[in-house]
Amino acid sequence: MKGDVTMSFSRGPKEPVAEVDTKVWACTNDECQGWMRESYCFDSEPECPLCHSSMKQEIRVLPELK
Ligand SMILES: [Zn+2]
Repeated sequence: MKGDVTMSFSRGPKEPVAEVDTKVWACTNDECQGWMRESYCFDSEPECPLCHSSMKQEIRVLPELK
């Protein structure tokens, strides 16, 4: 059955995803990759879901959410 998965992804023209500057919360722990989109976070001072460190706001270029 190898190949079926590839087929389902190649159907139709691929739409390019626009990338936009996005406000995110990023973990302050250098050894942790935790971050989240600000629009998904309703806390004014969230803590990292992975390591529970404090988080800081930053701008990242991310695919636009529709
Ligand atoms: Zn973290």
